[in-house]
Amino acid sequence: MRKKGRISGLRWTFLKLNFLPVFLFTLIVTSFASSSFAASMRREMESELRDLNDAVAVVFDMMYPGDYTVVEEGDELLFYKGDHLINGDYSVIDAVKEKAGVDITLTYKSTRVITTLTDANGNRMTGTTVNNVITREVTDSREGHFYPRVSISREDYFAYYAPLVNSDGTCIGMLFVAKPAKEVNKLVWQSVFPILLVALAVAVLTVLIVTVFSDKFLSTLIKIESLLNKTSNGNLTAELEPEVLKREDELGDMGRYVVQMQRSLRDLIERDQLTGLYNRRYVQMKLEHVQKKSLETGVPFSVAIGDIDFFKRVNDTYGHECGDAVLVDVSARMTEMMKGRGFVARWGGEEFLLVFESYRLDMAADCLEDLLKILRSRTVAFQNEKVKVTMTFGVVEGSDDLLDHIIADADKKLYYGKNNGRNQVVQ
Ligand code: GH3
Ligand code: MG
Ligand code: MG
Repeated sequence: MRKKGRISGLRWTFLKLNFLPVFLFTLIVTSFASSSFAASMRREMESELRDLNDAVAVVFDMMYPGDYTVVEEGDELLFYKGDHLINGDYSVIDAVKEKAGVDITLTYKSTRVITTLTDANGNRMTGTTVNNVITREVTDSREGHFYPRVSISREDYFAYYAPLVNSDGTCIGMLFVAKPAKEVNKLVWQSVFPILLVALAVAVLTVLIVTVFSDKFLSTLIKIESLLNKTSNGNLTAELEPEVLKREDELGDMGRYVVQMQRSLRDLIERDQLTGLYNRRYVQMKLEHVQKKSLETGVPFSVAIGDIDFFKRVNDTYGHECGDAVLVDVSARMTEMMKGRGFVARWGGEEFLLVFESYRLDMAADCLEDLLKILRSRTVAFQNEKVKVTMTFGVVEGSDDLLDHIIADADKKLYYGKNNGRNQVVQ
């Protein structure tokens, strides 16, 4: 009936339930950290490149005072700062590149006049042109612009373009300072990596802790499941580990309910509902065990049948409910008497079977005499009535004979007692 692996299915569900939020948490933390770090890097880049751009412009102004001018000689453009020819003089920009790790370019309009940028073959990109949109934005506004992503010769840069403005206010070209994006990205990654590592470690730890705890939970569940399985297969005496029963949570409750269910089922099967005594079917089974044990050990046992005298009269005089109350009371007295001696069962309407374990016939008869004395001296109170009853018992010592024969012998003695004054023990 039970599908195999259902509990391990639960284990998987637990893992999913716990891993998913942790995984999402890791993802969110890492992406939030990297995006906020990238944003702050971008701001830092902007101010760093702007400052460097200003600094390079100042260096050119100090070294070569005067305006930027252009002289065209044939196809060639000669770019001057003051009276210094800029073309071919890379001393300043190469020095800054070496110290600050940034690329620098001076343009006339959009054409690169000197630059530290090189193409795929390692040649300086002098004479190439800057993107039109950028040129227009910077020269039209005559203000510096920061671009977080400029693609030059298949390489991405963080770049700052400042206009080169002469004393008469004309904008003659641009000064470009830039850092390769991959360097900046490397920095971002280096800062995010430890965060990612910590988040991953937390995720792994959480999954481990959850696994350990859910394992404890599931092992308890498996124990309860196994007990339910045995119970449903008819084993009503299978036990649950005390540690499960001691739990004060819902699992402990579940365990206790199963044990209670076993007890209720056992009662339904083994006991008579009115008196709580063993029923006829169950006592026959128990008696078989007693006989078997006695034959093995050689220790005797005795069997008695008792019947309430004139019980019909009780019913007729005081009613059936009163008769029930008498049955319950008499049963309780017999149970008390049999404690430590054996057991008693309801054999029929007002007939009882008593089994004395390890008792010889005379010892069993003595006990029954004592019981009879107690019954004679007792009154059962029911509503306003006080009812007295006596009983007649037939008792025999057990043997290896058929149980039906042994019981029939006891019954014969009872019959004899009934015909000879009742209210007595016949052995
Ligand atoms: P005797 O001394 O010969 O045993 O007489 P008696 O009246 O006890 O015997 P009899 O067999 O004539 O009557 C037994 C009565 O027990 C009849 C039946 O209605 C009653 N009885 C059987 N089971 C129950 C029960 O569960 N509750 C009640 N109230 N009465 C029961
Ligand atoms: Mg009777
Ligand atoms: Mg009877």
